[in-house]
Amino acid sequence: MPILYKQNIGFKSAITRGLRRRCPCCGEGNAFRGYLRPVEMCAVCNTQLGSIRADDFPPYLTIFLVGHIVVPLALIAEQNWSWSIQLHMWIWLPLTLALLLVILPFMKGAAIGLMWRLGLKGDEQH
Ligand SMILES: [Zn+2]
Repeated sequence: MPILYKQNIGFKSAITRGLRRRCPCCGEGNAFRGYLRPVEMCAVCNTQLGSIRADDFPPYLTIFLVGHIVVPLALIAEQNWSWSIQLHMWIWLPLTLALLLVILPFMKGAAIGLMWRLGLKGDEQH
């Protein structure tokens, strides 16, 4: 029997377990079977995760976080060193892309953990 949602797990636990790409319910089973594809059901506790649709919430969180890392660094570099535009592009574009690709799966885990804790599946109508 799949478990949809457990109220005795706190928000912090669910989100941090998701951040570690683990099941938000038990914290032991893998929440993902690929880079961004969640498992249908936790192998340890049978929590249903595959039906949670995080949509564009994880990319939003990732862009927000990476923007707050890269933009201040670029501004510090611009104010302290006279780098050419080409050097800025060679540093900040690959760094931004790498950070986005590295952070996105963890943000998706956190988003799934939060949505699971809230009992949301992403298909709610208002
Ligand atoms: Zn689990």
